[in-house]
Formats: sequence, C-alpha cells, structure tokens
Amino acid sequence: MPAEPVPFSRKKDSAPAPVTDVHILWITAGLGCDGDSVSVTTAEQPSIEDVLLGAIPGLPRVHLHNPVLAYEVGDDFMKYFYQGERGELDPFVLVVEGSIPNEDIKDEGYWAAMGTDPKTGQPIKTTEWIDRLAPKALAVVGAGTCATYGGIHAMAGNPTQCMGLADYLGWDWRSKAGLPIVNVPGCPVQPDNFMETLTYLLFQAAGIAPMIPLDQQLRPTWLFGKTVHEGCDRAAYYEQDDFAIEYGSSKCLVKVGCWGPVVNCNVTKRGWMRGIGGCPNVGGICIGCTMPGFPDMFMPFMDEPSGARFSTAALTVYGKLIRALRAITNNTVNGEPEWRQRGHELITGYQPKAGAYRSRPSRKIA
Ligand code: SF4
Ligand code: SF4
Repeated sequence: MPAEPVPFSRKKDSAPAPVTDVHILWITAGLGCDGDSVSVTTAEQPSIEDVLLGAIPGLPRVHLHNPVLAYEVGDDFMKYFYQGERGELDPFVLVVEGSIPNEDIKDEGYWAAMGTDPKTGQPIKTTEWIDRLAPKALAVVGAGTCATYGGIHAMAGNPTQCMGLADYLGWDWRSKAGLPIVNVPGCPVQPDNFMETLTYLLFQAAGIAPMIPLDQQLRPTWLFGKTVHEGCDRAAYYEQDDFAIEYGSSKCLVKVGCWGPVVNCNVTKRGWMRGIGGCPNVGGICIGCTMPGFPDMFMPFMDEPSGARFSTAALTVYGKLIRALRAITNNTVNGEPEWRQRGHELITGYQPKAGAYRSRPSRKIA
C-alpha cells in the first residue's frame, strides 16, 4: 500500500516529456451527488477559470470535460471519452467522482453508468469506463471521499458493495506515467485542496515539478499531514479542559462529537472559501469525512468519541490547574503598572547613576 516515489516519465531513464496540452476527463458517474464538482467551482487557489484560461505561467493548456460544468451535452460531450479510449486524446488526466460499485455481485442490471454503447444500446457501466480509460491516463485522481475510499455509499449494509478507486484498481496501481492513484478526499472535497493537487499534477506533466508526495492513503502529504485539531481555533479550550456541552458555544466541541484530534484534514487551517470556515472553527463537529474509515468508524455522529473520554479525563487536573493559573496571570497582565499616575514624586524606580557618562570620551570645549 505505501506509495513509492517513482519518476514521472513515460520512458524509463529518460527525461520527462513535457506536454503543452492536457485534457481532464472527469467522470461523475460513480455513486455520488456531484458535490465535488460543485465544490470545486468555488476554488481560488487556483480557480478553475485561472487554470482553463491559461492565467498560470508554466501550466499546459487545459481542456476540461466534466458533465456538471460542460456546455456540451449528449454525444457532443461523450465524444471526448471515446477519443480518450481510442488514444486520440493523449495525454489526459482521469478524474473520478463518486464511489465505484461492485458490478460482479449480481446477474443483471447495473448500479452506475455513463453514455450508451452504440452497438448494443446498453448503458456503459462506470466500471467499464474506468477499465477503458485508466490504463491510458497520465494520472488518475479520486475527487472526494466517495471516489477515494467509498464514502457514505460504502457503509456497512449497503447493497452495492461499492469502494474507492484504489480498492478497485489496486493500491499499488500505477498509471502509464508511473504515478500512483492520487486521492483528494473530503465530503465534499475542499475546493482549493483539489485544484492545488490538480495544478501540481499539471506542473508535473509540464516537467517542472517533482513527483507528487503522497502518504500511505495516497493523499498529498502537504494537505493531509496534520490533524484537524492541530489547526483548530478551539484547541486552546481543549488543552484547558474547557468543553462545550451544547452547540452554539465557542468552546471545544469534543464532548459533542468532534473527532478532530485523530482526523487528517486541513480545513481548520485553510478554511473553506476565501479562508473562511473549516468545520470546528465555525461551530461544526469534525465527523472524519476525509478518512478511509468514514463514516462507519465515526458513528454515531454527535456522540463523544470513545477515545476522547480517556484523553479529556487525563486533562482534568492539568487543564483546570493551567486554566486557573492562566486566569490569575491574565488578570495580572490586564492591569497597568502602579507608577503610571499623575503626581510630583517619581515612583518608576528610575535611579540616575552618578557618573553614568564618565566612560565616554570627554569633549574638548573650545
Ligand atoms: S473542536 Fe474538535 S478539532 Fe477543535 S479543539 Fe475541540 S476536539 Fe480539537
Ligand atoms: S474538519 Fe472533519 S468533517 Fe470537516 S472537512 Fe475536515 S474531515 Fe471533514
């Protein structure tokens, strides 16, 4: 499962071949809500518009084919996917949104599909599209938790036995350019996290960025290397054993169900749009939506996480003591020094030192 760094080049032992045009074939036909496509429209670092209009120096020209955002419909839209399959759209990045159902657990019908096979008149299953396009893609990217790890659709008791991209293709899968699957989880994906990752891959395709650094869950390390708690506005309350017991409080939310201390996500640092938001920062508990174990391992939502009972109990004495001591110091430093007052007596403690300037070279007075 670990993602070993590999060179981003089609030919071994040769310099990467920079590209000038890249197509993005974006499938939203997994089991999902199109929420990741909608979320990404709010990105600003960079925005979709900046990427598509060539506003970023060094980036190849980008041609986006996403059914939620495209002007084309029907066959006019689908033609790019057939061109990709035939190798006429090289290079392209395949983005998958929505979880991937197991189509092998039944004898008839299908769970998810996109387009119609002109020969048979039957829908083309999403799994078929992934099978056709993934081997030809420069890179394969999972957008959102459904595509990366399965998400809500993949919870216990679901009838589709759906899964994430790496579960479907294999955790050791590599693209023809040698890249592992790149996972950008989130429910939905944080818009700038996705666009930043896509931009990184495009710079890599242009030959001016090194191999994208990924963690064992195939997430970009610079985005998912820290926990929600480590960036949370409320972390000081946690440390001081000062917890909210109802919503609407500005204190730490762990007692009302926040999983932030054990969840890899950067929205408390990054915010959601224009730096504003980020679940606990604005009053929402973290339910672990970026995690492979989501949602089952974080349910029932709104209950205090079992581990938090232990860690907060360990804080009881320390936190209360620190809070009391800080309150005393806070009270002290909120007062002014006593010498700041009117009067005829100098009470600052200033003591002129006799001969204080003796060591200086004496001036000659003409
Ligand atoms: S609200 Fe959640 S993330 Fe923030 S300090 Fe409390 S436990 Fe940590
Ligand atoms: S803070 Fe938690 S719930 Fe919010 S986006 Fe991050 S992982 Fe998901």
